[in-house]
Amino acid sequence: MKLTEDPHRRLNPLTGEWVLVSPHRALRPWQGEVEKLPAQAPPQYDPTCYLCPGNARAGGVQNPAYTGTFVFNNDFAALKAATPKERLDIGGKGLVVAEGEPGICRVICFSPRHDLTLSTMKANEIEEVVRTWTAQFRELGALPGIGHVQIFENRGAMMGASNPHPHCQIWATNSLPEAPAQELVSQTNYARTNGSCLLCDYTELESEQQVRIVCQNGSFVALVPFWAVWPFEILVCSRRHLSTLLDLTSAEQSALAGILKDVTSTYDRVFEVPFPYSMGFHQAPTDKSVHPEWHFHAHFYPPLLRSAKVRKFMVGFEMLGTPQRDITPETAAERLRSLCQQV
Ligand SMILES: [Zn+2]
Ligand SMILES: [Zn+2]
Ligand SMILES: [Zn+2]
Repeated sequence: MKLTEDPHRRLNPLTGEWVLVSPHRALRPWQGEVEKLPAQAPPQYDPTCYLCPGNARAGGVQNPAYTGTFVFNNDFAALKAATPKERLDIGGKGLVVAEGEPGICRVICFSPRHDLTLSTMKANEIEEVVRTWTAQFRELGALPGIGHVQIFENRGAMMGASNPHPHCQIWATNSLPEAPAQELVSQTNYARTNGSCLLCDYTELESEQQVRIVCQNGSFVALVPFWAVWPFEILVCSRRHLSTLLDLTSAEQSALAGILKDVTSTYDRVFEVPFPYSMGFHQAPTDKSVHPEWHFHAHFYPPLLRSAKVRKFMVGFEMLGTPQRDITPETAAERLRSLCQQV
């Protein structure tokens, strides 16, 4: 079987799920299509933005005149801390089951500047964001009843971001959400079977092969994973075995800021537009037990496929069967790598 020609499926060892790859369908030459969207540079301050310093939020609270990062509890939180942890099983057959999910939702503004993004912020400003993420993870993860802390950013209207002001969210939950729960099982099983870490071994293998590497520095590697579902999906792994943000040295905090700037600015060069994506960190559960099997990493899931307007949809066979892609992860990595090196 030729991975560059024959239809095949690839295993995601982190989740145990498969993705169908149809490379023959992408053999038609790359059109180099760059569909530019009308350039509307946002203002540095927007009087109607509920995240800008000094402005009133929808709930009526006024933001302080903050000058760096700014954290607040989400006014329209999807979770509430006081929710009872009750389990319902209507009919008693495990068919209509619900569980109370206590949790906390926060918003972190990366900058007082309305017009910046991770790709256009300075390295030292992104380092402050990394330190804020670390402090939030420490605080929320230490709370009783918080078993997992999910930090994530939705960027761009295409990904449902309601506001262009640079910000992310934190959803801290009692239970372990689906994606990290699958990854916990896979990493635990791999460590038991092989006596080593799944993502340490995978990062080493990718560093030898090079074909899926996008960019790297002394502490982090950004690559298009072999099992990527989204066209320009990226996995960022630490070189050292770390389990959470709390394990990073200050040098690694700087390196994380650097690789995030590299990845997001590379993305912006793909179609010469601010690239939409959902990104987030996967860290060890905060269930108050130790997780030596967990390897700190970040996922970037961008929806764009062929231009600034043509996105990938998960429909048909993908919805009913298995996700599928035409452009191979190796081709996507080559394209991203060439754009990363243009700095
Ligand atoms: Zn704003
Ligand atoms: Zn590891
Ligand atoms: Zn993950």
